[in-house]
Amino acid sequence: MMNEVVRKENNERFQILKDNITDYLEVKDSIKTGIEDEERIKHQRKKIMKHLGASMKDWNDYIWQLENRFTNAADIAEIIDIPTERIENINTIAKKYRFAVSPYYLSLVDPENEDCPIMKQCIPSIDELNDIGELDPMNEKASSVEEIITRRYPDKLIIKVTNICGMFCRFCQRRRLIGEFDTSVSQEKLKRAVNYVKLNHEIRDVLITGGDSFMLPDEMIEWLLAELRKIEHVEVIRFGTRTPVTLPQRITPNLVGILKKYHPIYVNVHFNHPMEITPEAQKACGMLADAGIPLGNQMVLLKGINNDKYVVRKLNQALLKIRVKPYYIFHPKSVKGTSHFWCSIQEGLEIMESLRGCTSGMAIPTYIVNGPQGLGKTPILPNYLLYIGNGRAVFRNWQGEIFEICN
Ligand SMILES: *Cc1c(COP(=O)(O)O)cnc(C)c1O
Repeated sequence: MMNEVVRKENNERFQILKDNITDYLEVKDSIKTGIEDEERIKHQRKKIMKHLGASMKDWNDYIWQLENRFTNAADIAEIIDIPTERIENINTIAKKYRFAVSPYYLSLVDPENEDCPIMKQCIPSIDELNDIGELDPMNEKASSVEEIITRRYPDKLIIKVTNICGMFCRFCQRRRLIGEFDTSVSQEKLKRAVNYVKLNHEIRDVLITGGDSFMLPDEMIEWLLAELRKIEHVEVIRFGTRTPVTLPQRITPNLVGILKKYHPIYVNVHFNHPMEITPEAQKACGMLADAGIPLGNQMVLLKGINNDKYVVRKLNQALLKIRVKPYYIFHPKSVKGTSHFWCSIQEGLEIMESLRGCTSGMAIPTYIVNGPQGLGKTPILPNYLLYIGNGRAVFRNWQGEIFEICN
């Protein structure tokens, strides 16, 4: 029998734990995922399909989605109410920074919500004309070894295989490369990149990105994987793609069948808000996971979209439900034309602080600041180590309680 005193103490402790989560429980249902808001999204989808004269078969075909991307404001105004002067603004901005959004991603926009986090990611804002920031803050040009390779670390590198995307994110860090036309890299350039990897024996991790790496046709992906797998020192191949978010129709049985022949393959995706977690996104991630591909999420911290501890908690928990492990939260980079999305480091740290202890460790990614000019990914954490030296180390735990261990 449990002693009465112990029982009472336990109950008090459990009450404190419950008190730690009441704030989240109060708001969590008001931050909807795309699964929870399926009916509203379906309604928008019907409207868009009617506008484009599309069948469900068209809708589920990613080539159709790509060919029917919305690229001018007047068309969007047929779906979402946009004031006339905003239409003109959008078209002006589109001349400077390319604009295209898949019908699927547009269907997630909530026209009733002025602050819609989906709208902010896909539809140009006049704030993009604010010229502070740089076009290439990462100085990728300086760390390019072949035109399409960026190498900044000893044993890994990235290959940028295309500038095509299902949707051009308004905060894109590679805006300078998006250009006016969709262009995949020629096979000649890919061959040179593969050759670089072959000649540099220390490279064991190759990251294929873009644009969006899954915008390469299946045959090119297969050719590239086969070439990379011939290289003995290549251990891990990773893809960076936003297609499960912006164009989930791209994850086809054929693509998945190709990828799983070349394991170990890892895929990093890029969800920024719970509303992006729809039944379609869930299906796409499920197909990749069923093929044995571990999935990680790389979120970008963005003002007005996800610089909110409850939004991030809901997002990360919803990601685990669709078998995606939150991997990184990136602090926004100082890319020109994106200053309206910038946040402070304090905001990022507060979000990290709010997660630790209050949810699964699995739902807690690493918060990363990218050093300018290619100085690299640098992790930051709230300060838990209060003192270290003289044979002891003093910490605070997630609830602010102090403890000490020998050092
Ligand atoms: C982000 C990045 C990588 C991958 O970094 P991880 O921390 O291993 O995910 C590799 N090369 C470059 C140039 C990068 O920017």
